[in-house]
Amino acid sequence: MNSRKTLFITGVSSGLGNALAQEALAAGHRVIGTVRSEAALQAFQALSADRAHGVILDVTDFTRIDSVVAAIEASHGPVDVLVNNAGYGHEGIFEESPLAQMRHQLEVNVFGAVAVTKAFVPYFRKRRAGHILNITSMGGTITMPGIAYYCASKFALEGISDTLSQELRPFNIFVTAVAPGSFRTDWAGRSMQRTPRSIADYDASFDPVRKAREEKNGKQLGNPQKAAQAMLQVIASPTPPAHLLLGSDALSLVRDKLNRAASEIDQWEALTRSTDG
Ligand code: NAP
Repeated sequence: MNSRKTLFITGVSSGLGNALAQEALAAGHRVIGTVRSEAALQAFQALSADRAHGVILDVTDFTRIDSVVAAIEASHGPVDVLVNNAGYGHEGIFEESPLAQMRHQLEVNVFGAVAVTKAFVPYFRKRRAGHILNITSMGGTITMPGIAYYCASKFALEGISDTLSQELRPFNIFVTAVAPGSFRTDWAGRSMQRTPRSIADYDASFDPVRKAREEKNGKQLGNPQKAAQAMLQVIASPTPPAHLLLGSDALSLVRDKLNRAASEIDQWEALTRSTDG
């Protein structure tokens, strides 16, 4: 099988998507990447004269997605790997954050990824080949104060990914939910949507959390280039995982959460069992 692949990556203007595009191009793959401005399109295509092809697409532009994917498949396909990477973080206390901000968070991080996936699956299924990487987050398993909407979106994408991996396995299509810890990207900087504070009761508990996240921006432990190299290993594997954590922070936080969940299940086992029959 040809080890040179064609990847379709959403959100290649910065961060993890940009790092993955660069590493994939350096490894000899072809990359079709989505961006949201003409300047980002030019910057992306400058990465390779013949193997970097940019498409302007907002993943919430739902009426365009099917035709954009059909055009890509016709002119640059077959696409081997879809990477649903485009997304952003909303930060705000649940009680303070308007419903519209939750809707938008899910529109981008969940419905956007679902719509792009739906557009590609028929091609992958017909070819009996394909790999879908959904960039979720450690926030798809653990939670922290101030990111309820973000965690909602990433828990949803984890659940969809896991279900889809079972539905598509008979067709030789793999689905991997990639859950990064904190990485040095624009996520906590220009991309983050922060709801202004309005309820003084949360000052003591939340202001330090917001401040710490702002101060950590640009100093996160995770290196996007190394994340990209890890994702390329997953893409090359004949038996890729359904879930992959990236980063030692994600590893310890998720492991701790799963251990706590297991002991809580044990502690309440008798009550849990009591409802049968
Ligand atoms: P980033 O540097 O802010 O990159 C986000 C990318 O998504 C940008 O290319 C952005 O395009 C694009 N994007 C945002 N909204 C979009 C939309 N509606 N339609 C199309 N593209 C859109 O942040 P990142 O950390 O690389 O984020 C990539 C993914 O990793 C996200 O899903 C994020 O939730 C996830 N993640 C990140 C971390 C982390 O610590 N960095 C941890 C866990 C998960 P523009 O340039 O046009 O805004």
